[in-house]
Amino acid sequence: MRTPHVLIAGAGPVGLVSALVLGSAGLRVTVVEAADALNADLRASTFHPPTLDMLSRYGLTDALIAQGLVARYTQQRDRKEGLIAEFDMHTLKGDTDFPFRVQCEQWKLTQLIKTQLDLMPDVTLLFGTRIEGITQTDSQVVATLSTQGQSHVLEADYLIGADGASSAVRKSLGIEFEGFTYPERFLVVSTEFEYADHLPHLSYVNYCSDPHEWCVLLRVPTLWRVLFPTRVDESDEEVMGDVSVQKRLQDLLPQSTPYETVHRTLYKVHQRVAKHFRQQRVFLAGDASHINNPLGGMGMNGGVHDAMNLCDKLLAVLQRGESESVLDRYERQRRTIAIEYINASTARNKKEIEERDPAVRQKTHDALRAIAADPVASRTYLRKTSMIDALTRAEAIA
Ligand SMILES: Cc1cc2nc3c(=O)[nH]c(=O)nc-3n(C[C@H](O)[C@H](O)[C@H](O)COP(=O)(O)OP(=O)(O)OC[C@H]3O[C@@H](n4cnc5c(N)ncnc54)[C@H](O)[C@@H]3O)c2cc1C
Repeated sequence: MRTPHVLIAGAGPVGLVSALVLGSAGLRVTVVEAADALNADLRASTFHPPTLDMLSRYGLTDALIAQGLVARYTQQRDRKEGLIAEFDMHTLKGDTDFPFRVQCEQWKLTQLIKTQLDLMPDVTLLFGTRIEGITQTDSQVVATLSTQGQSHVLEADYLIGADGASSAVRKSLGIEFEGFTYPERFLVVSTEFEYADHLPHLSYVNYCSDPHEWCVLLRVPTLWRVLFPTRVDESDEEVMGDVSVQKRLQDLLPQSTPYETVHRTLYKVHQRVAKHFRQQRVFLAGDASHINNPLGGMGMNGGVHDAMNLCDKLLAVLQRGESESVLDRYERQRRTIAIEYINASTARNKKEIEERDPAVRQKTHDALRAIAADPVASRTYLRKTSMIDALTRAEAIA
């Protein structure tokens, strides 16, 4: 019998997790990646508990823990008042095998997966190969690919478009990417400066509200990453220049010497969800299907959850003989979660962290303190922020 073939566009975390799930189950998989190598930029760096549960089935979680940091606590802070509330993720012990976040750069995940894929004879990774167009019939997808300017075609039973926010797959299908782009951009500055020596009782994950310039302080093994919003009227050159980077860092924590920075990244931030996640034999997953601001660390995690959900359904059809109609449930489940949960939560997180009205800020701080002081309320809160509730909600969608 012919081995089913799934084509995957994009070797980011979502494309590679999909390749791992399908390849481990014995399917023939081809991953096409436009770049010549895996992306090594500092992007997402938080793995939530349910993502760790999923990745542990493939032996990846222990490796991420070994290369990352276990963050048992998360904090809500205020730039002037300091610590507002600290949440202990061990409250989630009955909900997950991994009641903590792992702080680890996303490129480490993709490298770990590639090592496994390289050992699978039926999985092929084609770097320097861009998907440019798609046609499909009732029984197959035909993708037009371009490698070093040479055009060629590849046929497959199904195609997963995991080719990121500017997805050529999504565009080729003519699927709208509904939503909006924030007027400000986000700046992430990485530094070896040890904030924990200067800000007492700092955790590895700290959301710091402020009416003028909020920030997020995130620890990865060798660096602190500090995320700031830009002002709307600042040019990219201004934001990335030494003067404004030093000013932002000095305003946060004054030091007698200039900060040394290791990376600076400036990016546009959107809240968008594709109008459809499926068109016949083609699916969208990860950033190709939904993008959001990084407050809450839900983009990459949500994308991994998409990949797991979709691949389970593809295996149900291709190996367990289930009807193709099960594939429609992928869109019903994951698009609903992208809208109701991922985009809604991240938009709310941004609104709260940047709130200017002192009365509203006080109310939010009081509410956070009350939740942190109550284990039952803490568990409810952490189930939401850790994306456990989103998965329970998805399962309830027929
Ligand atoms: C600059 C930047 C900074 C970020 N920082 C954070 C952060 O601080 N915190 C956070 O939580 N999230 C962050 N994110 C978001 C997070 O990185 C994404 O949610 C995550 O990478 C999504 O994974 P993905 O596999 O869906 O897409 P991607 O990681 O974007 O992978 C898509 C892959 O597809 C490839 N590709 C694109 N077009 C084609 C084509 N036509 N043919 C073949 N291959 C193609 C790309 O080269 C890429 O390798 C950031 C994203 C960016 C872009």
